[in-house]
Formats: sequence, C-alpha cells, structure tokens
Amino acid sequence: MSAADQLAEILNRITRAERIAGRAAGSVTLVAVSKTFSVEEIRPVIAAGQRVFGENRVQEAKAKWPTLRAETGGLELHLIGPLQSNKAGEAVELFDVIHTVDRDKIAAALAVEMAKQGRRPRLFVQVNTGAELQKAGVDPREAGAFVARCRELHGLTIEGLMCIPPAEDAPGPHFALLAKLAKDAGVNGLSMGMSSDFETAVDLGATHVRVGSAIFGTRPKIES
Ligand SMILES: *Cc1c(COP(=O)(O)O)cnc(C)c1O
Repeated sequence: MSAADQLAEILNRITRAERIAGRAAGSVTLVAVSKTFSVEEIRPVIAAGQRVFGENRVQEAKAKWPTLRAETGGLELHLIGPLQSNKAGEAVELFDVIHTVDRDKIAAALAVEMAKQGRRPRLFVQVNTGAELQKAGVDPREAGAFVARCRELHGLTIEGLMCIPPAEDAPGPHFALLAKLAKDAGVNGLSMGMSSDFETAVDLGATHVRVGSAIFGTRPKIES
C-alpha cells in the first residue's frame, strides 16, 4: 500500500475509535510523523490532504520543511523530539507546535525567543510517565508544578501534556495517568499514542496522536 493509502486507513481507524469512545468526530488530530523520510516521500501524503506533520530533529526539519511549506500553504509542523536550549531559536522559527518542553532552561529559552521573534508556537509539556532514567520528560509527580512554573515564571501558555510510554509496558495505564495529570494541571491537550497504540490513546482522551511507521512504512534505523 502507498503512504497515501495508509494515511486514509489510519484516518478511518481514528474516526472509528472516536465513535467507539463516544467522542466527537474530528476531536483527534493526526500528527503524521515524517522523521527519516525524504521530501519526495512526504509529498504524496501532503497531496492526499494531510496538513499536520511531526519531526523529531530541528536540523532535519530545517532541511526538509521550508521547501514543502513553499509548495503548500497551511502546513502545521510539530516538534516531537528532544529540544536543546541552544536550538530554541530555530525551533520557534520552524515549528507551530512543540511537544517536548520538559525543563525550566528550555521554557526560559523558548520564552525569550518567542518574545524576540513575535511567534508563539503552541506548547506541550512532556511527562516521563514511566519515570525511566534515560527518557526525557518531567517526573509525573512534578508535572503540575512544572506547568504552573511555565505559566507563572516563564509566561508561557501550555496547551497540554505529552508522553511516550516505556516500550515494554502496556500503554493504557500511561495514557490514563497522563489524562489525570492534565486534568489536575488544568490543561486540555493530550499528545499520546503512536502507530501501535493510537486507538487506545483515542479511547483514553488523546487530542493528538503521533503516527509514523503505520503511514510511511518502517524506518531504516532505530530512532532515539
Ligand atoms: C517516532 C515517533 C513517533 C512515531 O512512531 P511510530 O511508531 O512510527 O508511529 C511518535 N512519537 C515520537 C515522540 C516519536 O519520536
């Protein structure tokens, strides 16, 4: 199947999951994760109507998306990978949504760049729901306090929370935890669910699912 066919299939499955969960049609946004795929591989998915895409690296996005944006208006680009504070300027310039705010240094750097550039990308706070040592994200016990500091100390509007459950765990409990943390923190957005578990995420309230390989195919190498 072509990427465009697989896109149609994923959109059908999201619509079906919304209906089963009793959620309004269109309440979930599909972020098509195009990391590692070339401009040539992404174009047919844009031609099929997809407008929202995710990339995990600032440099890769910078190499691919200015070209694609010049060809098609109304594209929305999401940063779903870790952000270094020295890349905050480029991130604010390139992305419409950043899913990976997870420490004060990044929040402060984003606030400075947003003021400087007059651009305000929408922001999600990444939560390390599995409390994995090597994984990015704030500790779940710190999530509420961090969202409050983003607002009060850094003057940022936080739209929601994002998580990547540990590969070896069932995802449901992590999605449920993220939903509870978001409710407690007073934010509505929930960025959760990937190729293998997006229907579970829709059932548990995801507003954004991040689906890559189920649309574009298997990636050549393992991503961090
Ligand atoms: C790569 C990636 C995805 C997409 O993963 P698939 O399993 O290919 O759907 C989603 N979220 C993040 C943060 C990623 O890095």
